[in-house]
Amino acid sequence: MAPRTRSKHDVVVKPKFLFCCKCFRTSLKRAENSGLGGPLRIDCVMDAESSILCKQCSGRKAICETFPASMLGDCYDFAAILESCKDFWKATDETGNEYWADEIKSAVFRSQIKLAKGLMAVLEAHRRTHGFTETKKEQSKNVRLVILYLTYRYRFANDVQDIPNKYEKFLAIRRSLCIAVPYPGEDGTAQQWNDYHSVGFLRLLPGDVGYIAWASARIAFFESVCNAIEDHYGPDANTDPAEVEEMTEDFHSRLVEWESVYPLAKPKV
Ligand SMILES: [Zn+2]
Ligand SMILES: [Zn+2]
Repeated sequence: MAPRTRSKHDVVVKPKFLFCCKCFRTSLKRAENSGLGGPLRIDCVMDAESSILCKQCSGRKAICETFPASMLGDCYDFAAILESCKDFWKATDETGNEYWADEIKSAVFRSQIKLAKGLMAVLEAHRRTHGFTETKKEQSKNVRLVILYLTYRYRFANDVQDIPNKYEKFLAIRRSLCIAVPYPGEDGTAQQWNDYHSVGFLRLLPGDVGYIAWASARIAFFESVCNAIEDHYGPDANTDPAEVEEMTEDFHSRLVEWESVYPLAKPKV
């Protein structure tokens, strides 16, 4: 039998934040091992006409893994942070030269990888907390319990069947805490769409597993970029006194630029 071919759209779509978690892992691993200079890109491609699978999962005969609905806002924030960094690679000065030094690009790229690893760790912990996935230890424990159930009609299976309902109930409670933002529709402005996406999605809350880790990862990201800018452009003990004022001005304006494009408020931890 001839192999089935995947019918494709003429235009491929690369989701900016609703990417498949498996592509997130692959892209992160590739970025860590590539030795290239960034920026970090999550390569997930939706190109099929009649399949719900992304290109990578289709090729691997795997099932896509979506971000849990209870963390969509965190994923959106992560994508917004990556987007806010694009000028480090694109901006030019009035003479057409690159505005940011290669050292800054490398520092931002390294920080992006750390941020992504932080989100990945929190994602895995969140999935385990809500029963989406299990550690190898838990898997072997559950296998033993299922064997016990099959042998003695132990009622362990009821708990397993309850898991999706428990998560749905958790989502319903969380959604009731959200501020309702109406769907902007065709005439929605960019601001309305941003509000819809940034406010309407669920995020981890203080007290949730991983909340502090994710908040800390975002703080560390923002601060590490500030530090890189200061280290590279700010005056130090060896700076010629005649250049200190000009360097300080340049360093401050670069810092203000970075702060103005960074999309999130600093979380309190
Ligand atoms: Zn994908
Ligand atoms: Zn996928």
